Amino acid sequence: VVFNQKASNGSTKSSSPSTNISKTINLDQGDPTVFEPYWRKMGDKCTMVISASDSMSYFSDAGNLCWFLEPKLGDSIRNLHHEIGNAKSNGRHIVVGTGSTQLYQAALYALSSSPDRTHPISVVSAAPYYSQYPEETDYLRSGLYKWAGDAYKFDKEEDGNTNYIEVVNSPSNPDGSIREAVVKRTGGKLIHDLAYYWPQYTPITRPADHDIMLFTFSKCTGHAGSRIGWALVKDTEVAKKMIKFIELNSIGVSKESQLRAAMILGKLSDNSYQNLNSNKPDNFFEFSQCLLAERWKKLREVVKRNQLFILPDYPLEYCNFTRKFTQSHPAFAWLQCKEEDVDCEKLIKAHKMMVRGGVRFGAEKKYVRVSMLSSEVVFNLFLQRLSAIKGNFN
Ligand code: PMP
Repeated sequence: VVFNQKASNGSTKSSSPSTNISKTINLDQGDPTVFEPYWRKMGDKCTMVISASDSMSYFSDAGNLCWFLEPKLGDSIRNLHHEIGNAKSNGRHIVVGTGSTQLYQAALYALSSSPDRTHPISVVSAAPYYSQYPEETDYLRSGLYKWAGDAYKFDKEEDGNTNYIEVVNSPSNPDGSIREAVVKRTGGKLIHDLAYYWPQYTPITRPADHDIMLFTFSKCTGHAGSRIGWALVKDTEVAKKMIKFIELNSIGVSKESQLRAAMILGKLSDNSYQNLNSNKPDNFFEFSQCLLAERWKKLREVVKRNQLFILPDYPLEYCNFTRKFTQSHPAFAWLQCKEEDVDCEKLIKAHKMMVRGGVRFGAEKKYVRVSMLSSEVVFNLFLQRLSAIKGNFN
């Protein structure tokens, strides 16, 4: 991961005139700058002022189980899920986190921290899985849990363990597919990472209804820099442990970020579906769905023309939110080299594009993951450079 590296491509400023066409472009991370133009168009509608005497206390809602959750953020989250229809939030605890990255670790802790644990519980996810799961799971070498790889290959008997944690990421990063748990054995515990279950990426077919569901402001609206994520948690004891983890890890979550997220998420439900059919250009999900659909169309044209790569196809499904049949337009393109034995990452890197190789996701090197969420300038350079790749690359 190269978060310690300065973006080399103007990806933080989509309109940067200084983007140098001869520089390597960064399509490795899913930095969601694609949505910047929408928020710029909103002008001051979501601007907020916080004075020096505001929000000074550690506490946001001392009477709530999650005492560091700003009530306004809790309200915006429940309203938004109700409006979009992508998850059941009633009767669940909302746990806010510094990004869903912190909540993933809080959930691992909550599901594994029983006092009688003698060895680490196995954590699995179906390959290709989100490349951060192995790293986030193992970087502290916890005695509570350990990464055990591809859920399809998990053999709990061999592992000598009666239980396990499976992370289900749907739609999936990297390949955009809709996923369900695959191990399905008694003793298993599930974490559903639903970072991309929003209408701009995929048809909303049902309200998700799982024990632990993780969402993130980063991928919902593109405000990755605010570092806000939330978990919808059914079980009170699990929620308590997640809250304890965050208490010990960061004594809560920035109030400034929470208040900003509350305002912006609140704006989304203000002008959601009712206005969709009135062609109101204001609607965020309408805007971003069109944008991603357009990008996918252009990418598919390039891939069809140069005949070197394969992209996944996604089924047409009825979206309860837009009330239309649509296909998925995932946040990442899972690009496969047609020719066997090609190191696709190397090939693409040679054409000045940073992408993430398949091996990082538990897949073969003929795959790469390419961000579809870059700025317009970078995305256009990506299309140009991909078109320029010719065959015979061995
Ligand atoms: N889960 C998935 C599947 C993701 O793709 C990401 C972001 N790349 C995250 C979690 C983490 O998001 P956050 O910015 O909220 O930490």
